[in-house]
Amino acid sequence: MNKLHFRRRARMNAFEKIQSLYGEISDLGNASALLSWDQQTYMPPRGATARGMQLATLSGIIHERMTSPDLGGLIAEASGGKLTGDQAAYLRELSFARDRSMKLPAALVKEMSLEESKAFEAWTRARKLNDYGIFAPHLARVIELKKQCAECWGYAETPWDALATDYERGLTASRVESIFRPLREATVKLLQQIKARPQANTRFLDQKWDIDRQREFGLRVARDIGYDMAAGRQDLAPHPFCTNFGMGDVRITTRYSQTSLLDGLFGTVHETGHAMYEQGFDPADARSPLAEAPSLGVHESQSRFWEVRIAQSEAFWKHYYPILRQYFPGQLDDVMPEEFYRALNIIEPDFIRVEADEICYNLHVIIRFELEVGIFRGDLSVGDIPAAWNKLYKEYLGLDVPSDTLGCLQDVHWAYGSFGYFPTYTLGNIYCAMLVERMERDMPALWEMVAQGQFAPILQWLRENIHKVGRRHESAELIERVTGMPVTCDPLIRHLANKYRHLYGF
Ligand code: ZN
Repeated sequence: MNKLHFRRRARMNAFEKIQSLYGEISDLGNASALLSWDQQTYMPPRGATARGMQLATLSGIIHERMTSPDLGGLIAEASGGKLTGDQAAYLRELSFARDRSMKLPAALVKEMSLEESKAFEAWTRARKLNDYGIFAPHLARVIELKKQCAECWGYAETPWDALATDYERGLTASRVESIFRPLREATVKLLQQIKARPQANTRFLDQKWDIDRQREFGLRVARDIGYDMAAGRQDLAPHPFCTNFGMGDVRITTRYSQTSLLDGLFGTVHETGHAMYEQGFDPADARSPLAEAPSLGVHESQSRFWEVRIAQSEAFWKHYYPILRQYFPGQLDDVMPEEFYRALNIIEPDFIRVEADEICYNLHVIIRFELEVGIFRGDLSVGDIPAAWNKLYKEYLGLDVPSDTLGCLQDVHWAYGSFGYFPTYTLGNIYCAMLVERMERDMPALWEMVAQGQFAPILQWLRENIHKVGRRHESAELIERVTGMPVTCDPLIRHLANKYRHLYGF
């Protein structure tokens, strides 16, 4: 630190000193995010070793600064003074993150990270060879270490609660159970009714779709709905994601396949939803812990809103279907708009979560959640996971899982120790449905606007109610403030029933 900087800091009060220190931590985090974005997009393969070291060095420095006694002293000093509401929220968020990293012994963090790399490698091999036995001992070790983390953090009912806090603070297994149960029951019933109905024609989708045209169309939609390309960009990557190096630089990645018109498009719109959220934080919150989503569930509510509720709606295609036809001349001439709308909303139970439709998706998530809770309550052993998995797939989705590769080995989350992550996908859908009902009341012309390609008032509504708020409230509190309802799956059940009864005619 240079002398001038030092003198300036000496004149600051405790809160200003914290802002200056955390601003640097935030810069380091953004620099590290840029390095990992590059790792996943443009880095040549032989850069991997050096990049790994650079990322580890940065994360060590970030950890050191977050847990430094200086910062602790300043937080204590500032907390004793007079604070505005925003300052109190700032300190609450910073203290939470700091306490959480301080509670884990360095040796456990190191062991966890080593074991996760081993488990990831074993998982990759096990999935390829369809041999759960290769992964099982590593998974058992990861679970053991995660239980130790949970003991360090503390929890009310089950160790799972302490782990889920990383993604959705305040969430407990029993609370998720009570939110998900009615959704599961309603969804299983709805699925049976759909299965009894004739299926829509999707044969016209089996064509070759030019990748450049797909990309141009996807970007056009992203721009139309409000993605600020002067503060963002899109690149290709094997796994679609969104990342942020500050509000003025929020990037997305997408993958396209020549044989699939819809996956690339909906993937782009999904990541655009995440990106517009991060572009919409309050600029005054830059470099502060308030410029973040309160939880993964709330983040997912924004991506799913644009991907599913907007881009898979009838109104959206009223506007975009003629445009899509121009992008692919001759390829959709014989396909009526209603036929296209039906095809993109087809419901068909299958084994793979990431390819699942709007109805089945939540069942995939609920199955993983129920197994996780079984593991951490001590009712399910690692060896019994495949059988338990297959039993639930039969019960909820009516499927006979043919192999562990298409079954319990399909997701990477558990290898990384990410227990408590899966429910945030369905919570995102639940929050989203609650927000849409509120939006329909606030903007009765909502769907006419979508049909005319007018998205600005919709984005504005999200900016005011969700984006600008950042992390000032916890997720459940934020959703209740905006919608006037405690978290409930009822709006999601209503939406699914209305939409698919209409589509399948029952
Ligand atoms: Zn997402």
